[in-house]
Amino acid sequence: MKAFKHVHAASVDEAVSLMRAYAGNARLIAGGTDLLGVLKDEILPGYPEALINIKTISGLDYFAEDANGLKIGALTKLVEVVHHPLVTERYPILSKAAEAVATPEIRNMATLGGNLCQDTRCWYYRYPHQMGGRIMCHRKGKGPCRAVKGDNRYHAIMEGKVCFAVCPSDTAIALTALNARLEIAGPQNVRNVSINDFFTPLGNILEADELLTHIQIPNPPAGTRQVFSKFTLRKPVDFAVASTASVITMQDGVCKAARIVLGAVAPTPVRATDAEASIIGKAADAVVIEEAAEAAMAGTKPMRMNAYKVEITKTLIKRALLSIFQ
Ligand SMILES: Cc1cc2nc3c(=O)[nH]c(=O)nc-3n(C[C@H](O)[C@H](O)[C@H](O)COP(=O)(O)OP(=O)(O)OC[C@H]3O[C@@H](n4cnc5c(N)ncnc54)[C@H](O)[C@@H]3O)c2cc1C
Ligand code: SF4
Repeated sequence: MKAFKHVHAASVDEAVSLMRAYAGNARLIAGGTDLLGVLKDEILPGYPEALINIKTISGLDYFAEDANGLKIGALTKLVEVVHHPLVTERYPILSKAAEAVATPEIRNMATLGGNLCQDTRCWYYRYPHQMGGRIMCHRKGKGPCRAVKGDNRYHAIMEGKVCFAVCPSDTAIALTALNARLEIAGPQNVRNVSINDFFTPLGNILEADELLTHIQIPNPPAGTRQVFSKFTLRKPVDFAVASTASVITMQDGVCKAARIVLGAVAPTPVRATDAEASIIGKAADAVVIEEAAEAAMAGTKPMRMNAYKVEITKTLIKRALLSIFQ
């Protein structure tokens, strides 16, 4: 690994000013579980001059409940998200999604903000430089997408245009289903954005001198049920081949509101709005559930090697709805 400066930021303002001063030649580091791998393998053509350590900022690892819902600091460790009673009782899909991430050792280090901002896991993108030269591609700023003609078994089955790598974050899927909002600090102001607008086909909306500071989750309405499920090839530790997070509000046996989010099928988390519309106002039966799964997958465009993900995602949706409607 090349040498870099390691600068401790004492406050959000200092982190922002340091990032501004380095003008694109610095990276924020939280738990480091993703970033250090990226640097060690020298997968990117540019190497940062400095890492700005944000773990030294106090007051960004907390859970705070108020009348509107729950606020979580971006530096909160995943292990705390898994176990905190406010999360397990009111937002169980977030606890389950955080628990589905990596290993206990990684969850002890990794932060919720870092999990949302982690880099892609496309295997062409992640190819280590020391193993014969890094692989350039559209996402790295030069060349075509290697997955289009290459091995695309884990890539997107919908919404891929220039990059077909899927969003790797499990907590992003749960937080999208929970309709979270994200607070972002920058040099001019603080932005508060819906998580629906945070992810982009090539990553997220953060500018080089911005950092994610807080995650806000609204109160779920009474009668809301939640399910997160993830399919992986290797059971103990693996990124999702497909995942779903469903937040369904039931009243007198009828679905009143629904947010169904699909993971690992597209470059961003995907809301299955047609599936949601197909169950609202209905009491569930096998036909309604089957129709919802079909509606969710109606717009898919699988690549040469990944049509199998369509069936797996349908099955995850059906299982989730069955368990909610029972
Ligand atoms: C073996 C292994 C298995 C894994 N399996 C999974 C999995 O199954 N599911 C899953 O979701 N993830 C998985 N991960 C990824 C893991 O969850 C991430 O590495 C971790 O969540 C990143 O958090 P961190 O705090 O360590 O971030 P860092 O590594 O410190 O940072 C990651 C990126 O986010 C940026 N960043 C960090 N915090 C902020 C912030 N507050 N504001 C703006 N930018 C920020 C950094 O600049 C960097 O670009 C796995 C990782 C490994 C190594
Ligand atoms: S899917 Fe994206 S990251 Fe992977 S090779 Fe194509 S452009 Fe690069």
